[in-house]
Amino acid sequence: MEKIKMTTPLVEMDGDEMTRILWKMIKEDLLEPYIDLKTEYYDLGLEHRNETNDQVTIDSALATKKYKVAVKCATITPNAARMEEYDLKEMWKSPNGTIRAILDGTVFRAPIVVKGIEPCVKNWKKPITIARHAYGDVYKGSEMKIPGAGKVELVYTAEDGSETRELVHEFDGPGIVQGMHNINKSIESFARSCFNYALDTKQDLWFATKDTISKKYDHTFKDIFQEIFDAEYAEKFKEAGIVYFYTLIDDAVARVMKSEGGYIWACKNYDGDVMSDMVSSAFGSLAMMTSVLVSPDGNYEYEAAHGTVQRHYYKHLKGEETSTNSVATIFAWTGALRKRGELDGNKELMEFADRLEKATIDTIEAGEMTKDLALITTIENPTVLNSEGFIKAIAKRL
Ligand code: NAP
Ligand code: MG
Repeated sequence: MEKIKMTTPLVEMDGDEMTRILWKMIKEDLLEPYIDLKTEYYDLGLEHRNETNDQVTIDSALATKKYKVAVKCATITPNAARMEEYDLKEMWKSPNGTIRAILDGTVFRAPIVVKGIEPCVKNWKKPITIARHAYGDVYKGSEMKIPGAGKVELVYTAEDGSETRELVHEFDGPGIVQGMHNINKSIESFARSCFNYALDTKQDLWFATKDTISKKYDHTFKDIFQEIFDAEYAEKFKEAGIVYFYTLIDDAVARVMKSEGGYIWACKNYDGDVMSDMVSSAFGSLAMMTSVLVSPDGNYEYEAAHGTVQRHYYKHLKGEETSTNSVATIFAWTGALRKRGELDGNKELMEFADRLEKATIDTIEAGEMTKDLALITTIENPTVLNSEGFIKAIAKRL
């Protein structure tokens, strides 16, 4: 059989621990036998990030701007324990944060739905994609403990020195206060990423905030979305047969629970953090969740939503058998290959991505799965496979 040719490389970002082991198996067993794989390889494994003073992470993000499509393996975000374990020069920042800052994107997370892994919410028939704004609000907030009576004000000092003040509260005893911000440009990018992603995936887009209470802050989000929609997207949405609608966050939550899924739910930073964990756990497992960072100028970085599965890696190092779920990492690859195919007009590559996804889902639906899924499946007597066995079972179907 002749291998599928690629014209433009993908940016390949290798990672750490158990997911790095899966990465290699996926390439060897599921990709390289069928595709003449063209990638520009960046080793984001922690050792190499440390050797390059994290330059490799920056280079990989810049390469993504050049080639438009990247696929990323899970990576360690260093903490004190990792400093010691890897003898690090510095506590390097989260690679995802670095890449996001360079690409200026929105993160879209969607569950991979298979028969036999049923959502807790029984009317959810199709995936619900969460689009999370990844800048500002409480994540860039400043806070104070107020020790006793006194006045707290917001003060804006313009470049010409003039001041605008707004009373926060007249305290008559101890309390707390928080200041947070966002930037119109970032909200605009968020809106465009959401509208583009809705068009890409032909799904309706919902957006919700608390604008009735937050009449300036949240209302600005609402207004920016509406202005950009009316000016740039209304026509395209009509042609694609999809809709955009705005509602209050509490109304959105109620509708989501009663819906059958199949749409994108755009959330402010905090709402997205909380709601994506709710949606992913209700759909079954973090190992069955895709994640893609989409930038407003059309760059795509695909990854798994979970981490490096450290506990399994230590078992693997001790020579013990592991049963780590590779589905999200496989879907990171298929997402990237399909997008590469789409941008390059490479139909064979797009069809291969479809086939690999189907082989993966068929394997699980036939009762062959890793331990995490076997514990929650409604399929009777599932066959529990180890990490490698599961990938080999998919390869056989493929
Ligand atoms: P994790 O890697 O997501 O794993 C937490 C637990 O979830 C695992 O111990 C395992 O449970 C289960 N799990 C997650 N993915 C699984 C899979 N594919 N198959 C089977 N079970 C799976 O989170 P963590 O252990 O808290 O973090 C480990 C490292 O990942 C950290 O250094 C963190 O910085 C990094 N991280 C990276 C990213 C990223 O690159 N996007 C995201 C999150 C975390 P059991 O042990 O019960 O089997
Ligand atoms: Mg969270």
